[in-house]
Amino acid sequence: MIVPDRRIPATTAAYDPACRRCERLAEFLAAVHSEHPAYWCKPVPPFGVATARLVIVGLAPGMHGANASGRPFTGDHAGILLYETLHAYGFASQPEGAAFDDGLRLVDCRITNAVKCLPPGNKPTPGEVRLCGDYLAADLACLPDGGAIVALGRIAHDATLRALSFKPGDFAFGHGKQHALGRARVLFDSYHCSRYNTNTRRLTPAMFRGVFDGVAAHLAWSTGSDR
Ligand code: SF4
Repeated sequence: MIVPDRRIPATTAAYDPACRRCERLAEFLAAVHSEHPAYWCKPVPPFGVATARLVIVGLAPGMHGANASGRPFTGDHAGILLYETLHAYGFASQPEGAAFDDGLRLVDCRITNAVKCLPPGNKPTPGEVRLCGDYLAADLACLPDGGAIVALGRIAHDATLRALSFKPGDFAFGHGKQHALGRARVLFDSYHCSRYNTNTRRLTPAMFRGVFDGVAAHLAWSTGSDR
């Protein structure tokens, strides 16, 4: 994948392109960049609308997807079902996310990750998830009352709850579960839309749509109108 030159996003409370808090991940990114000089190989910023009522929280950038393109779920298998589904429910302008400059816009939606840097083997350590939690907390602080969060997998579920100052032990993860977070905000759990989960049919398109049926119903209820 060729990544054209582009401006690096500014540092905010929710994102720092120069962050090296996780030494292991910073060293891994440097090694991957040596092997793939055209790849983004920096923390991947949130993508979408700052005031969105829906936030998707993934796990971490994939090696040849978000880590290459610099945009969450862009250019890898996990993005196929996610962007198809977001488009089907009116949260994305097109059903595919192939490259950061493909013209895709999110509508009332933002996508972020619990961990902003590519971890070896797609497995961040608990300490890395906690270190990156400050950025996630700043990001989720923008969620308006009545908003919805979709956590893709248990690690994203736990990180989301910690970022919002809840105890993960008080909210058991389960695909299809919904958790009230106060101020009419709801956390929706889903299995991650990874290649493994979709190939093994642990997560089917129908199961994923079931989660978004709940999101759409909640947002319609919380605004008093249909989308
Ligand atoms: S994972 Fe998060 S906290 Fe760790 S280095 Fe990357 S941006 Fe910083």
